[in-house]
Amino acid sequence: MQAARGVLVLNAGSSSLKFAVVDPDTGAQRLSGIGESLGDSDPRVSWRCDDETGHLALDPGAAHAAVLDYLVGELLPAQPALRAQLIAVGHRIVHGGEHFAQSVLIDGDVIATIEDCAALAPLHNPPGLLGIRAARRAFAQLDQVAVFDTAFHQSLPPHAYLYALPYRLYREHRIRRYGMHGSSYRFVSERAAALLQRPLSALNIIATHLGNGASVAAIKSGTSADTSMGLTPLEGLVMGTRCGDLDAGVLIHLAESLGYAVAEIRALLNRDSGLLGISGLSNDCRELERAAGNGHRGARLALEIFCYRLAKYIAAYTVPLQRVDALVFTGGIGENSTWVRAQTLEWLRGLGYRLDSARNRQMRAGAEGAITAAGSPLALVIPTNEEWVIARDAARLVAAQE
Ligand code: ADP
Repeated sequence: MQAARGVLVLNAGSSSLKFAVVDPDTGAQRLSGIGESLGDSDPRVSWRCDDETGHLALDPGAAHAAVLDYLVGELLPAQPALRAQLIAVGHRIVHGGEHFAQSVLIDGDVIATIEDCAALAPLHNPPGLLGIRAARRAFAQLDQVAVFDTAFHQSLPPHAYLYALPYRLYREHRIRRYGMHGSSYRFVSERAAALLQRPLSALNIIATHLGNGASVAAIKSGTSADTSMGLTPLEGLVMGTRCGDLDAGVLIHLAESLGYAVAEIRALLNRDSGLLGISGLSNDCRELERAAGNGHRGARLALEIFCYRLAKYIAAYTVPLQRVDALVFTGGIGENSTWVRAQTLEWLRGLGYRLDSARNRQMRAGAEGAITAAGSPLALVIPTNEEWVIARDAARLVAAQE
């Protein structure tokens, strides 16, 4: 039997760093944790290792490097067996532009290219680079691998990825649609094929990843044919705090008539909109469902707009796919919200979808399976596991160079 192996998976956000030690063969996570409020006055780390949990306050202003220092200097040395299992570090990187259609071993050239892509994702790539630099220092002897959210969507055809802008903006500045959540789409489409006991190459799937960020993808034979996120993760669905699709004329109006500065527009669209902006209450789907149940009008409206937009995207993706073998719900909302799934399928009655309410209620908290009635096109709930995809890619790339 092969000895247990572990990949340290790092997912760096602007003020957070999630970490996990993932077995690439089974997906099991022996250690998982998060550093939060990094760079703020009260940064902290919390973690779980088997049945043990821990919390630690970091020094005010401490950032990503401090979390890794703690991981390398204290947490892992206290778990020598786990430390000895590590074979690689896998980094989630949001934007790889057109440079990366798959995961890669990280070297100086790869870092320089990710830096170039930061112009396309100023909010997302810099923290990823912070994580890479800190991990290269902390784990000098381990291979580092970058896994890009955008890579899966490099298969998009030009009619799906081009905006109707002057073509030179694409030619000279690579302004186009890129798409995100690629690791999640890879995981759930492979899992759907396993559940249906059919080869992925023979399946057409519409997958919806509904978390704080949310997107939809049309997946044909295991490759992305269209997706709702664009140059940045702002386009497409209504999200926790992002607006999704918007008439670009609104931006002109905000700037010209209402005097908004660019930084204010960025904050408005990314942080103050979506479920939070409409409801005036919260970006958290659970809280909105509770409030809507208690008669909060804004919460109800936010959830209704969320489901309506989602249903429209799902219907639209019958265009590239023609035949749809499975509709998949994943992400925190997709995996848990019976209400969102029911409302969305209600809008899709015209395409023949019929919910099985009892099954829908069962699909939560990690459950996996169908939520549709006999005779309906199939809709599945599949819990995603992006960390496992990252760990598998890292293990494969490390093995390939041995
Ligand atoms: P992230 O994009 O940050 O990884 P997640 O995939 O964890 O986000 O999804 C977070 C969202 O999932 C939140 O809106 C949260 O309210 C929602 N969610 C989690 N559990 C439930 C639940 N039981 N019912 C409804 N929504 C839920």
